[in-house]
Amino acid sequence: MIKKLELHWQIIICMVFGTVLGSYFNQINFTNNGLYTFIILLGDIFVRLLKMVIVPLIFTSIIIGISSIKDQSKIGRLGLKTFVYYMCTSLFAILIGLTLANVIQPGVGAVTIDQVGAFDTSKLSTSNSILDILKRMIPTNPIGALAKGDILGVIFFALFFGVMMNFSPSDSRSTIKNIIKSIYDIILKMTQVIIKCAPIGVLGLMTKTVSNTGLSIFKELGMYALTIGLGLSIHLFIVLPLIIFIFMRVNPIIHFKAIATAMVTAFSTSSSSATLPVTMKCVNENVKASNETTSFVLPMGATINMDGTALYECAGVLFIAQALGIQLDAGQQFIVVITALLASVGAAGIPSAGLVMLFIVTDAVGLKSDAVALWVGSMLAIDRPLDMFRTMVNITSDSVGAAVIAKSEGEKLY
Ligand code: ASP
Repeated sequence: MIKKLELHWQIIICMVFGTVLGSYFNQINFTNNGLYTFIILLGDIFVRLLKMVIVPLIFTSIIIGISSIKDQSKIGRLGLKTFVYYMCTSLFAILIGLTLANVIQPGVGAVTIDQVGAFDTSKLSTSNSILDILKRMIPTNPIGALAKGDILGVIFFALFFGVMMNFSPSDSRSTIKNIIKSIYDIILKMTQVIIKCAPIGVLGLMTKTVSNTGLSIFKELGMYALTIGLGLSIHLFIVLPLIIFIFMRVNPIIHFKAIATAMVTAFSTSSSSATLPVTMKCVNENVKASNETTSFVLPMGATINMDGTALYECAGVLFIAQALGIQLDAGQQFIVVITALLASVGAAGIPSAGLVMLFIVTDAVGLKSDAVALWVGSMLAIDRPLDMFRTMVNITSDSVGAAVIAKSEGEKLY
């Protein structure tokens, strides 16, 4: 009977089931349990399968997308619109985070670190600076970037390759284009099969997450979690629906229904990149945006457009400052806003990438003591559920961006 349900319902049911199983395993000594090992293996296999198709999918879809744009000026126009949309929505999200953190003041009177329990922060590492991130976008070895799954590098190379393909002699152009198009079609078919396995994979992922997350620490950092949760909800349920309504003149529920499978996949994988194949399929088939637009806007969105992460960077750093008893003045808060935006652009679309990027923002306002690292470590303990939520917001904003841009190009949607 469950097979008759739409895919996102199947996933939601498995999610609930995984939560129940996870809490059961959390009560018992689950690590030696054979059933537990088997169930989480299913989740791991699902994520590996998704990751397997990401690089070839991004690479081929961007090249096909770019090279099929006949009108060269359209590439620049699409690029500019995409960039402006992404920066504006992320900035909006940051302002929500900033306002809530100042009004709720979650860090004021937060428990001391000793009570929370410090976590090993040695595992957390971050790139040195924003300039470093920009530099890393250009791969010195494109094959190496493909092999390592360096998404920004792959995007840069594929964009360049796609644009230049339009200027190459037509014989060689059509040969290479046919080959890349065939690979793209096959990868898409593979993606469809993998997505059908999502309910089972999600069952494994939820079981693993819930069995590992203790609830007591959640209580200690409750106000912080609440602030982030509230901010993400405002962005997801008020700001993005307003954008959908204003630009597309449709009921936002129609859009949410169209991308429901991608939303639940983002929630359970905590990875925008791993969700990308699903997002592309939903926006293409259900929102009915053209291949040209989706293959240009979405791969970029999965890496550089992270509204949820941007909001979290800003509110998270204000929380740390408040917990340390440091009052950030207006100028410092402005720096937080700008660096939170850049950190969200630089964060990879993988679990907890946003948490690691917090150090860029704390550094920028001179919060450098060991206590900062200890607070980030404590935040790591409850990061998973927040990460799931912000990843869902991230990919929802990507999909809204694709729809807005498709509409502005005169496409007929939904
Ligand atoms: N997990 C998020 C994503 O993939 C990034 C983050 O940690 O905020 O979109």
